Amino acid sequence: MNRHVVILGGGLTGLSSAFHLSRRFPEALITLVEKTSRFGGWISSERVQVHDGDGRTAEIVLESGPRTLRPNAKSVLELIHLLGLKNSVITTPITSSAAKNRYLQIPEMQGLITLPNSFTSIFSPPMRTLFLPHVLREPAKRRNRPDGISDETVDNFMTRRFGPTFARTFGSSLVHGIYAADSRELSVRAAFPSLWAMEDRGWGSVVRGALLPDRTDSREDYDVGDIPDMMKGVSVYSFMDGIGMLPGALATHLRNQSNVELLRDNPISSLRVADDGQLEVKLSSGRMINPTHIISALPLPVLHDLLHPTSSLPHLTASPASSVVVLNLIFPQTQPKLHPSGFGYLVPRPLSGYSPNNPGILGTVFDSCALSAQDSNAANFTKMTVMMGGPNPITPSHTEVDTVLKQLSVHLTAPDDYLKVLPEPIYTRTQRHDDCIPTPMPGHLRRMEELKTALAKGAWSGRLEVVGAGVRGVSLGDCVESGKRAGESWTC
Ligand SMILES: Cc1cc2nc3c(=O)[nH]c(=O)nc-3n(C[C@H](O)[C@H](O)[C@H](O)COP(=O)(O)OP(=O)(O)OC[C@H]3O[C@@H](n4cnc5c(N)ncnc54)[C@H](O)[C@@H]3O)c2cc1C
Repeated sequence: MNRHVVILGGGLTGLSSAFHLSRRFPEALITLVEKTSRFGGWISSERVQVHDGDGRTAEIVLESGPRTLRPNAKSVLELIHLLGLKNSVITTPITSSAAKNRYLQIPEMQGLITLPNSFTSIFSPPMRTLFLPHVLREPAKRRNRPDGISDETVDNFMTRRFGPTFARTFGSSLVHGIYAADSRELSVRAAFPSLWAMEDRGWGSVVRGALLPDRTDSREDYDVGDIPDMMKGVSVYSFMDGIGMLPGALATHLRNQSNVELLRDNPISSLRVADDGQLEVKLSSGRMINPTHIISALPLPVLHDLLHPTSSLPHLTASPASSVVVLNLIFPQTQPKLHPSGFGYLVPRPLSGYSPNNPGILGTVFDSCALSAQDSNAANFTKMTVMMGGPNPITPSHTEVDTVLKQLSVHLTAPDDYLKVLPEPIYTRTQRHDDCIPTPMPGHLRRMEELKTALAKGAWSGRLEVVGAGVRGVSLGDCVESGKRAGESWTC
């Protein structure tokens, strides 16, 4: 029988799966089905034209989803090499202020504080009291992981090792920045497996473990050409027209493959193993596909809803997902500058907890600092992106630009070398993304193993694989990696 693989969902995971499967199985037919009119899922880059009151114009890239990649994700470097995207890459060097300076805005303190970026910086206030004692004391603390636990929340983990103040200040901020979630809900093993491994390696101490070499074997089967040389000394990177160039190049490549069929505007309406054992994918258009194999790159709850009750699978609705509001802002250039030089800042969980009365800002990216090469005449404008929501209840104030600007002014108020009151922005764009980032809760890895076992036997008998942000990591690198590994066990 000829192999026919149907890939469900045309986000980055689905596109990467199609790319690798079409290369691995050139004889197979690969059909990728996407609900909306565009590929890329949460990735959405747009170039807008802006004018200030003095006749200056610019063409500026706005991201409403992911904006930066890290060079350690070899699966993405491989795509850059194989898709010929090298000349479109723009990088932020580790020596730049955007890479070195990251800030926190602690709700109980005024203005921004600089996160430690050098050995000497940990001795300056307020890090001298907020950071240093907790980190210095940690190696001397006895091993305190309770016997028999195989996972816990990020907050529990950090509180155990570094104390509650450190866990709230640094742990919750980190989780806001990556997962837009509450660190008291997120699984440390699923979200930050390296922290858990450091504790093991360091005989109970994370700091000791961080100083010891990591001897875990990682796979090295990536065709990356000379891209790693280009990434030497790079902190983060993107592309000239934004992250959207990556799914764009994937879709263009796939369209040119004779064994690939790309379907857009085609919601899948159901999925099952029929009584005669055939796989059935039904599209809303009425078309029925009977593939030999299926890759689901859909959010897990979406897959759950599509599955016919006779073909159901465990744990697809076990993880909640965060919703965020993204506000893109462009200001005219000002003197003094609107913000200090750096990547941006994160806001930890307020001492009083999340409530509708809190402003709801999770963090703000100073886009003009990190990736200004994307924009023409960038020097004349200041671009920022504010992320709100997540564990903060999303209230109408999150979409009222004036209210957010007031809050932003408070965050950017001290020290005196930048503006106290923000000028009127010349461009704003607000987007709400519902259930956009999954929050794997403690026990997630075990649940995903159980899901894998259920898929390997019974009616599905290894013919359906479930990949994507809800399974093993939400970063773009994780998504491409899961696409690369999709269908690896299929031999015939
Ligand atoms: C605001 C935001 C900022 C982020 N920032 C970063 C960052 O800077 N760096 C980073 O590494 N990661 C970042 N991430 C995470 C990363 O963008 C996502 O984890 C990743 O894009 C998820 O890709 P995916 O393909 O697994 O899922 P999705 O993008 O959710 O793709 C799933 C696809 O399935 C389709 N679909 C749904 N239902 C159906 C149906 N019934 N039929 C057919 N198709 C369907 C959807 O339309 C979608 O295209 C960010 C995420 C968000 C939301």
